[in-house]
Amino acid sequence: MTDAHVEPADVGAAGRTYQVRTYGCQMNVHDSERLAGLLDAAGYQRAADGVDADVVVFNTCAVRENADNKLYGNISHLVPRKQANPDMQIAVGGCLAQKDRDAVLRRAPWVDVVFGTHNIGSLPTLLERARHNRVAQVEIAEALQEFPSALPATRESAYAAWVSISVGCNNTCTFCIVPALRGKEVDRRPGDILAEVAALADQGVLEVTLLGQNVNAYGVSFVTDERLREDPANAAEIQRDRGAFAKLLRACGRIDGLERVRFTSPHPAEFTDDVIDAMAETPNVCPTLHMPLQSGSDRILKAMRRSYRAERYLGIVARVRSAIPHAAITTDLIVGFPGETEEDFQATLDVVEAARFANAFTFQYSKRPGTPGAEMPDQVPKDVVQERYQRLIDLQERISWEENTAQIGSVVELLVATGEGRKDVSTARMSGRARDGRLVHFSPGDAHIRPGDVVTTTITSAAPHHLVADSEIVTHRRTSAGDAHEAGRKVTTGVGLGMPRVGTPPPKPASKGCCG
Ligand code: SF4
Repeated sequence: MTDAHVEPADVGAAGRTYQVRTYGCQMNVHDSERLAGLLDAAGYQRAADGVDADVVVFNTCAVRENADNKLYGNISHLVPRKQANPDMQIAVGGCLAQKDRDAVLRRAPWVDVVFGTHNIGSLPTLLERARHNRVAQVEIAEALQEFPSALPATRESAYAAWVSISVGCNNTCTFCIVPALRGKEVDRRPGDILAEVAALADQGVLEVTLLGQNVNAYGVSFVTDERLREDPANAAEIQRDRGAFAKLLRACGRIDGLERVRFTSPHPAEFTDDVIDAMAETPNVCPTLHMPLQSGSDRILKAMRRSYRAERYLGIVARVRSAIPHAAITTDLIVGFPGETEEDFQATLDVVEAARFANAFTFQYSKRPGTPGAEMPDQVPKDVVQERYQRLIDLQERISWEENTAQIGSVVELLVATGEGRKDVSTARMSGRARDGRLVHFSPGDAHIRPGDVVTTTITSAAPHHLVADSEIVTHRRTSAGDAHEAGRKVTTGVGLGMPRVGTPPPKPASKGCCG
């Protein structure tokens, strides 16, 4: 890893505060950790909650319809602050910046810096240049110059961390803007990934989630940072290793102190049995799989340019369940893709019924500007989409509730989390995730339990989206992650030799990705 682009000595940031506002998927959440890490390394300080920051960074998402109107509305709210303080700066990065480029400055001339999805590392320099020259700076690269995980990151949690294993995607799903904005898939070298995971574990992080737009395609291109810099055009020519993702999971299983490994999001077309074997045979790989189905209709999958069919999808589910009987399987579903008939929708209901997902993230199709789907004829009327959506929700809620009810009486191990239980204060409960990813609200009793600690407890009741454990705590393990959380220290990576340091933890964002 390197700390390229970070030049603290050159950046007049001392004493200036920043705030990063994040929109969209996990990929953006993790990019925001890097933006925070870069700004920290450049001498900025995170603004305290509720305090106006000197620099506000918008890390944007282009996925939803009207995302741009909402963003420009939010930016315009800062105009009075900027008028009152000419030294205040606004930066706009992420997918919408990549898409709109110079247009950001036409629509919001008070913005100081616009940077693309491949230019995260330039943010401190661009901010400084904009301040020094009093001219807005725009930097949008077409392709990745350096794997972003080589950049510093200030981690959001002391106990769980995202680790990027690839960026970009070689698929062309017709509802998705990601390939246009994030580019072709580039895979990070296994040694770099494992060094980062090991370093996180050394500092007490208990859980990592391996992150990629199409995470199980990992191995499609192994490109070193140096080679990318020399010749980005040849990135895709480097030979693919089809067993790379399974090998990576098994290698994570050998990392001392790492208790939980998850990954998101895999693509059903790429899902191979060696991955199922690796999941089943690697004790710290969690018994959970989030695998986007999107539609149960083969006709619609074809229109979406998703190359698997319902039968293949259900085959993977069956093989995962046979190898890991207690696996909780979750999915993403889109209702009302252009041309979807009642028969197509029924096919989705049938697959949902057969797959018995523990949970599903359901989306009403909305036109995403710049995608082929937005131009397709036969857009489904909104009222039809709404009615189908409700039927799908009703079905999935029933299944989730039945699956969760079956958990009552079982003893679960929870990694205690923060910010996951909105009613925790009024119910005197805390929250945590079971190994299979289920959210559990539990009564801590008199024990001094901290986020980052590990407890076991018995499930006493169930709802579609969570479980409740109001029984006595069976075991409580205090962890160094819990110590770090309690002390307000934050894990950082990618600084110096890539070894993380521990510093202050912040809120947990958890929106589902749009991909897979
Ligand atoms: S939905 Fe996922 S697999 Fe499809 S193009 Fe988008 S990122 Fe790639």
